[in-house]
Amino acid sequence: MTDSRPSLRRRDTDTLHQPWRALRRLAPLVLAGLASCASTPSDERLHSTLWVQTSAEYGVITHQVFHMAKQALEQSLLTATDEPAPALIIDVDETVLDNSGQTARSILARTGFRRDAWRAWVNEASAPAVPGALNYLRHADQLGVTVFYVTNRSVELEPATRSNLDSLGFPLRPDMDVILTRNERPEWTRDKSSRRQWVADRFRVLQILGDDLADFIAVPPGTDAEVRQQLAAGRAEWGRSWFMLPNPIYGSWERALTPDGTTIFDSSMEQKFRRLETQ
Ligand SMILES: [Mg+2]
Repeated sequence: MTDSRPSLRRRDTDTLHQPWRALRRLAPLVLAGLASCASTPSDERLHSTLWVQTSAEYGVITHQVFHMAKQALEQSLLTATDEPAPALIIDVDETVLDNSGQTARSILARTGFRRDAWRAWVNEASAPAVPGALNYLRHADQLGVTVFYVTNRSVELEPATRSNLDSLGFPLRPDMDVILTRNERPEWTRDKSSRRQWVADRFRVLQILGDDLADFIAVPPGTDAEVRQQLAAGRAEWGRSWFMLPNPIYGSWERALTPDGTTIFDSSMEQKFRRLETQ
């Protein structure tokens, strides 16, 4: 009996210490894992941002779209009448200006989208042009087509936006405000319909260009992915007077997958996994 006690006690002690020993053995691995998490950002936008910034394919696609738009514009001007004067409506972010650098910063900083960082980026006024946009809009300007930039950047960001566009050489009519920002007028809400209508009341709108379905038609908040597809399908305007640029990084398509408004980080991942099609 007495012999068995120490042995039992030893076994108890061993059992008690096993998790600690295991943890001690695992500690370097755990620390290495944490270190690698700290130095390697994990952000859903990593892949798409790299595609925009490094692939040959992205620039080929944007050039293709602007080339088609340019040809269609020349065609539509052949049958033009003098009144009302021709115009086109174009979105700014990811259609004219490439903000992938701002996304890259937030991926590296592991912060997700932050309004203050976005505003700082816009106020730097140094976003590069989307490939092909400058050539297309300069051509439109030379053809006498007024270019209206209809953007959901808020009205306080209009001077910086103008500075950015101007420094890149984008056409900006000097005799009128052609940058129509969100909340610049009370009725100019996030839904761009009222701004499109404002232009259409004054000009003959030949084309619309954007990277989001809402740049072309009203898409009510909370519209799900299937309804968005139905709204887009079967419109004869695509490739004729409406031209869509690729934006794999963000857009209202993403909010349609995460109806509670979460984007970018873990909470949205579960919802997105459920939306994957395996057939
Ligand atoms: Mg955009």
